[in-house]
Amino acid sequence: VAKQSGRSRWEVYQDEYRREALHRISVEAELRGAVQRGDFVLHYQPIVDLSTSEVIAHEALVRWQHRERGLLLPGEFIQVCEDTDLIVGLGAWVIEEAVAFLARHPELPGRVYVNVSPRQIGRRDDGGSGSRGLAQTVADVLAATGVSGERLGIEITESGVLQATDLARADLDMLTELGVVLVLDDFGTGYSALSSVLSAPIRGLKLDRSFTMRLGDNGACDRISTAIAALVDSLSSHGVVEGIETEDQRQLALAHGWTHGQGWLFGHPEPEHALDLTSPGHPPTVPGTRRALRTRV
Ligand code: C2E
Ligand code: MG
Ligand code: MG
Ligand code: MG
Repeated sequence: VAKQSGRSRWEVYQDEYRREALHRISVEAELRGAVQRGDFVLHYQPIVDLSTSEVIAHEALVRWQHRERGLLLPGEFIQVCEDTDLIVGLGAWVIEEAVAFLARHPELPGRVYVNVSPRQIGRRDDGGSGSRGLAQTVADVLAATGVSGERLGIEITESGVLQATDLARADLDMLTELGVVLVLDDFGTGYSALSSVLSAPIRGLKLDRSFTMRLGDNGACDRISTAIAALVDSLSSHGVVEGIETEDQRQLALAHGWTHGQGWLFGHPEPEHALDLTSPGHPPTVPGTRRALRTRV
């Protein structure tokens, strides 16, 4: 078994391993250059009122403008960034860019939410150019642009909240003092979800798309969705259902008690120039419904 075509399985394995390691190193080197040059762009996806389709906020999602390969989605590079310290520099760029976008668009309804990796929270340095933590980075950018923290939101995953060292907790508390709200992303995919919601300064949660895809199963998923919507309501916090692609999913989410959603049914992530920001709240796609801006997530 060992010797086929003259090479042992071990040798083949070593080759494979070496190739993978080399690939990772080259991706990392390429990314490092890209972070230094700022070869990234943010796309913005609307978050809407489920009953009126009114836009009540946006989520900023990063894309890598790769010189040869074109526009790359986070699935192709975020993990490498998170496994190294590259996420800190990239994360600071994302915050600067999102706040600059807010400064260019005072008419924007609601907040812009940026995604933050657990690794960015509760550290004292920002990847080399000083000794700021996440909250200090946010405070500096807000002060430099005059944008209010009340227009910014941060999405973190449960692990970001669970790794709550004192430094991390201080970061989250300082963000809250700046008026920035924190919401839990991909809710339901981790564990100890409830304790993290209750113990950190979290103002909302986003039901993960893996639930949205199974809405209407007349079983566990529908019951979980209903229960979490009730929990959100009883905590007076904000809930968003992620990844709504169909009218059926919108109707089910509403029936389960959710008020806000996000997904292709309402709008894909788009670059700044493609966003229609002229009409406040964007025209609702559902006829005969209210237009006034009510709750802002
Ligand atoms: P996320 O924060 O949960 O973002 C939602 C993802 O679902 C986005 O993918 C979005 O394009 C996609 N999506 C939205 N609506 C629908 C839908 O109706 N159907 C389907 N199938 N997908 C939908 P994207 O942009 O590829 O981002 C993937 C993940 O990468 C994000 O998941 C987030 O965890 C991470 N990410 C994105 N931008 C950043 C960033 O600036 N910093 C960090 N640390 N992570 C980021
Ligand atoms: Mg997110
Ligand atoms: Mg999410
Ligand atoms: Mg996600």
